[in-house]
Amino acid sequence: MALAERYWETKTLDEMTNEEWEALCDGCAKCCLNKFIDDDEEQGPTSVIKADEQVHYTNIACRYLNSHKCECTEYSQRTVLVPDCIQLTKGNLKDIFFMPTSCAYRRLHEGRGLPSWHPLLNNGKKSLMHKKQMSVRNKAICETHVDLDNFEDYIVRWPLNDLD
Ligand code: SF4
Ligand code: SF4
Repeated sequence: MALAERYWETKTLDEMTNEEWEALCDGCAKCCLNKFIDDDEEQGPTSVIKADEQVHYTNIACRYLNSHKCECTEYSQRTVLVPDCIQLTKGNLKDIFFMPTSCAYRRLHEGRGLPSWHPLLNNGKKSLMHKKQMSVRNKAICETHVDLDNFEDYIVRWPLNDLD
């Protein structure tokens, strides 16, 4: 069934059908980067903004990511093969602070709407997202090519960038 026009402006995340929920994903693949939480940082109140400051992203991508297409090569098996793979659902929105600020689910959860580069606003095409540097394309290294003991050398800030 065709998606209603700009349904994300009239429905809450909770009210969306599975199809509408799935279509929200921009396919940026930033959530397929290795990240960690710095436990040394002072824990603040439960707040999405504060929590974001504690999540550190690296440019090391999951071994199952095709980083040019920004697509998972093992989508149906992903949570079995990679127990840490975050499959965001209505039931675990509390985990949303693991997502980058540009993530469509996080943006809607925080009442920020979808950005102009989102594929849903560009005939389903990802090209503007890639052009605006909002995806991992050409920026990630596969985890099989790095020594994960040195992951701190790969910390990057660009996954935290967001643009309207
Ligand atoms: S960060 Fe969010 S919008 Fe981007 S690929 Fe992951 S789930 Fe989809
Ligand atoms: S298993 Fe697939 S969806 Fe999960 S982190 Fe790896 S590439 Fe991304």
